[in-house]
Amino acid sequence: MTVTPDDPRYDYLGDRGCNRRLVSRPEVIHQVFTAQQTEQAVAESVAAGRRIAVRSGGHCLESLVDRPDVASLIDVSRLNSVYYDPEHAAFSIDSGAQLGDIYKQLYLGHGVVIPGGTCPTVGIAGYTQGGGFGALCREQGLIVDHLYGVEVVVVDGTGRTRTVLATREPDDPNRDLWWGHTGAGGGNFGVVTRFLFRSPDATGNDPQAALPTPPRSSLVATVRWSWDGMSEQGFTRLVDNHGAWHAEHSGVGSAYASLYSSLVLSSRAAGTLSLVAEMDGSSRNAAAMMDSYLDAVHAGVRAPRTVDKKTMPWITAVYSDLFGSVSLTDNRYKGKGAYLRRPYSAEQVATMYKHLADPSFAGRGAVNLLSYGGRINAVDPAATAVAQRDSILKVYTGAAWADPSRDEENIAWVRNIYREMHAATGGVPVPDETTDGSYINYPDIDLADPAWNTSGLPWQALYFKDNYARLQQVKAAYDPGDVFRHPLSVGLPD
Ligand SMILES: Cc1cc2nc3c(=O)[nH]c(=O)nc-3n(C[C@H](O)[C@H](O)[C@H](O)COP(=O)(O)OP(=O)(O)OC[C@H]3O[C@@H](n4cnc5c(N)ncnc54)[C@H](O)[C@@H]3O)c2cc1C
Repeated sequence: MTVTPDDPRYDYLGDRGCNRRLVSRPEVIHQVFTAQQTEQAVAESVAAGRRIAVRSGGHCLESLVDRPDVASLIDVSRLNSVYYDPEHAAFSIDSGAQLGDIYKQLYLGHGVVIPGGTCPTVGIAGYTQGGGFGALCREQGLIVDHLYGVEVVVVDGTGRTRTVLATREPDDPNRDLWWGHTGAGGGNFGVVTRFLFRSPDATGNDPQAALPTPPRSSLVATVRWSWDGMSEQGFTRLVDNHGAWHAEHSGVGSAYASLYSSLVLSSRAAGTLSLVAEMDGSSRNAAAMMDSYLDAVHAGVRAPRTVDKKTMPWITAVYSDLFGSVSLTDNRYKGKGAYLRRPYSAEQVATMYKHLADPSFAGRGAVNLLSYGGRINAVDPAATAVAQRDSILKVYTGAAWADPSRDEENIAWVRNIYREMHAATGGVPVPDETTDGSYINYPDIDLADPAWNTSGLPWQALYFKDNYARLQQVKAAYDPGDVFRHPLSVGLPD
């Protein structure tokens, strides 16, 4: 189905992106329902010379989809089946499915799970192609560590479209196309119509053995500290304790592999700082282990905290909005990412405090420290396109607001805190002993702007490190005309 601006459905489909700061007015929106329609939509767009962008869950935080030069938007959100595919002994997940629906389908249907993210409305397509992570990843690895195959509509050098199924099988002639979909981010090589998931150690053709099993229950703890009672010393202890704990407990096979947490260091105007932690509630000593973690993080903070703990079925926890949901109609965002190999230095924590406590900033900004490591780090950096395989934390620094007149203030706050925290390395988290570049699913076009990245390293080196050259080879082989491109897409080799 094609939708043009005079169609009443155009506004809804055109505005599906969750970052309301970014808008586009494509000439045509292709709402596709089948893989065949997807190929047709690509063929029509190429024949008409229309610049293409693809949308799945619409959670892209940067101007990679909603941008003025996009003339043809292919919306795959109605392409959303989830089923076991016996031919490939893998679960087939169409590229428009959202994580929340996938969890229910896999778990209630087969008792299995993919290690997905914590926001149920994120789409599988952007999430997977960026190398997505979530609450089960320290125990089960990244989503791409379970990606068996991709079905993609690609365009050759003559403009002809075809659909290719590429798997990780060593003798698959299209194996490199699979590899390109394990961390390069979306919108690089073609339009994915479906993903195939099967864990690397799975054997046989039993659906229940194809993917991991989630825990029976989750133990969830929410801790809050009021900004009113928080001194700089207390804040510093909190961040240092949290970093030290992750430095000690993020190895492959850690006894704490099932524990995932999100420490949200919010700006003062938000009122509170919070920690949400989730772990396997059915594991031995779960309650004592959780208490030990919470106490380690709080030690010496000397600010009152509230602690709320609950045990619930794993699937209930998934839908409990533990980590905060997003408004799909109001929010404007600016965000930036970083991988941390070791905790922030004293200077970096002091800089963070200065910006978060700044009384002149009335917005809702935050530095969000997310647990990483564990099984994620058991994988070779070249095995998938995710090159960062020895970090202990992932960081999202960002702001969310609704009023367009506050754009400048919020964007400036995010840019300044990030630049100052990485002042010693050109304003960006270069790969060194402390940081290890950034995460393409927290895309940030400032990294490609010499005004904000003075490190001397190109943005590609921050996101993809040594894997970039191979990604360029995949680009040359599968999208030689650079049909699929955006400001942070993989380029053709020089
Ligand atoms: C509230 C929120 C919570 C988040 N939580 C997490 C989290 O827990 N873990 C995590 O790892 N990340 C998280 N993210 C980041 C998220 O993984 C990325 O934003 C992801 O790219 C979103 O995918 P999408 O399909 O929803 O987005 P979209 O905007 O639809 O697409 C994102 C990118 O993928 C491309 N794309 C979409 N569909 C296709 C397709 N079929 N074929 C080819 N390219 C395609 C788009 O063109 C775009 O470049 C979160 C983001 C938000 C806003």
